[in-house]
Amino acid sequence: MAVRDILEYPDPRLHELSCPVDHFDDALARTVDDLIETLHASASIGLCAPQIDVCEQVLVMDHSEDQSAPEAYVNPVITRRRGFGLVEERCLSVPGMSAFVFRATAIAVRAQDLTGATFERTLTGMPAVCLQHEMDHFDGKLVADRMNWFKRRRLRAALHKTEEPA
Ligand code: ZN
Repeated sequence: MAVRDILEYPDPRLHELSCPVDHFDDALARTVDDLIETLHASASIGLCAPQIDVCEQVLVMDHSEDQSAPEAYVNPVITRRRGFGLVEERCLSVPGMSAFVFRATAIAVRAQDLTGATFERTLTGMPAVCLQHEMDHFDGKLVADRMNWFKRRRLRAALHKTEEPA
């Protein structure tokens, strides 16, 4: 297991489409281990493979208080959506910024585990929102793309400042 670097906006790799997983092998298990370790090190609740430069449809979430319940979703598909709300989201790939996004507040999801076995879950509230956010990454979509013009300009200005020599 290793804590991996998280790609940050405006890295173009974050806009690539992620491929479905078709090999349920040691490489997949390593990706999931690294995702979980990186998620826990960042004290966040969700992380997906494209954020650590693995262009595959794999995500992990852990909504426990003590980082004791990480869950991996491979090739997730949302099969039902219910209730919609405007939610303020943050993203480890867009540090220091947030954006308001319309999300379903309850979803049913079908996915595969590390062995390729299919499972189904019903998620509500924060876990439902988190899963939709992570799945946006598979389509190359970021909360930065949903920010208004003013916020994006502030983000670019902040990035520009950190790139200049001190
Ligand atoms: Zn994100």
